Amino acid sequence: MRIGVVGCGVAGQAAAIFLSEGGHEVTIFERFAEPRPIGAGLLLQPTGLAVLRALGLEQPALAQGARVVGLEAKTHRGRSVLDLAYADLHAAAHGLGIRRSVLFDLLHGRLKRSPARLVTGTEITDADGDHLVDKAGARCGPFDLIVVADGAHSALRARRMPQAYARLYPWGCIWTTVPDRDGIGVAGLLRQRVRGTREMIGLLTVASGQLTIYWSLPVAAPAPDKPLDLETMHRDAREIWPEAAATIAQADDFSRATYRNVALPRWKEGRVLFIGDAAHGTSPQLGRGANLALLDAWTLADTLATGGDLADFARRRSATVRFYRQASGSVSTELQVITMHREYNIGVAVFGDTQGTRAEGFRRLRAPFSVGLQGPQVAGSITPHFILGRGTVTR
Ligand SMILES: Cc1cc2nc3c(=O)[nH]c(=O)nc-3n(C[C@H](O)[C@H](O)[C@H](O)COP(=O)(O)OP(=O)(O)OC[C@H]3O[C@@H](n4cnc5c(N)ncnc54)[C@H](O)[C@@H]3O)c2cc1C
Repeated sequence: MRIGVVGCGVAGQAAAIFLSEGGHEVTIFERFAEPRPIGAGLLLQPTGLAVLRALGLEQPALAQGARVVGLEAKTHRGRSVLDLAYADLHAAAHGLGIRRSVLFDLLHGRLKRSPARLVTGTEITDADGDHLVDKAGARCGPFDLIVVADGAHSALRARRMPQAYARLYPWGCIWTTVPDRDGIGVAGLLRQRVRGTREMIGLLTVASGQLTIYWSLPVAAPAPDKPLDLETMHRDAREIWPEAAATIAQADDFSRATYRNVALPRWKEGRVLFIGDAAHGTSPQLGRGANLALLDAWTLADTLATGGDLADFARRRSATVRFYRQASGSVSTELQVITMHREYNIGVAVFGDTQGTRAEGFRRLRAPFSVGLQGPQVAGSITPHFILGRGTVTR
């Protein structure tokens, strides 16, 4: 098939590699003249690592990232609201903190070694039949399949599937990476601190001696044209997380991000298929988006390689994506979810958007709750597992 891929991010690059190496004629379009990662670091789950393994990139990722063994969240008074260990789910399970630039470079290097053709500096604004149309009105194609992977704020989704739900979260994030001067990341944890229900700071180890800071703020606060009030932020950091305040104070420049909760009525419109954040943007607090994007790419190529069609792809991905979409919708209140799949299909959805949470949300956080997950993942079918509080796993 002749396949056009829009977007040279996580989903687009992985899809272009898998599909072109599966024998398809792939052209990938990127709006930037120099494709580049935006933001600081992220957490890869065992599912995402499994896809990197299929790309031959797991070992270099492990070598350059930092193993994450658990997730912790406490209030500013030191009360624990989340304490999860991957090992409680499976002895071999762990996450990986990794700088976005490292993940991008690994995928991009791999893309360049694949048969896919990369076209940069081309902003795609529409799909018309079997062609893509760029900002200047030029038509590119024809394509038998168009894979749209242009991210959470997808222009093509707005154009081709205007009925899609794509609500902007009221909370954005500022993030950056700093030296781990006090050894906060040595324990291999994603650490978070909350004050009340409206403030959250996270520290993720992303490499030896490096921490990514996530700081959730109302969308209006991180608006690009509004300078950050660093003095107030440093004061807040001292109050919310005194032991990390000096580490956080090293940061004087942050990237800013906004995100959407995206739900499509269907995965495709004509010959246009949506994947990654364009199809199912979730709250970054779930720590899932890049993992879902990688799994979309792998599943798409695998479905086509084994004689399936796009309806089969949709069937294989829908249950998992629906689960995380609902979790993402719920995290705007109080959710902390942990889900377990078999072997390396272990997914951990982490601390929710605490902003907007009511006090009872935290009380409920501490109560045992169960979440099940069904649906095929990288290794085929999985058995639903149920987690009841820390360490109690039933099937
Ligand atoms: C603050 C923050 C923290 C996060 N933390 C995590 C985490 O810990 N773990 C995790 O798994 N996920 C995390 N995520 C989510 C993750 O970053 C996304 O889910 C993932 O990047 C989605 O990949 P994508 O390829 O679908 O989209 P993107 O990575 O957004 O890539 C889209 C690409 O398309 C290009 N593009 C856009 N429009 C056009 C156009 N019109 N024409 C051509 N090209 C175009 C863009 O330039 C870009 O290269 C986080 C996100 C944020 C914002």
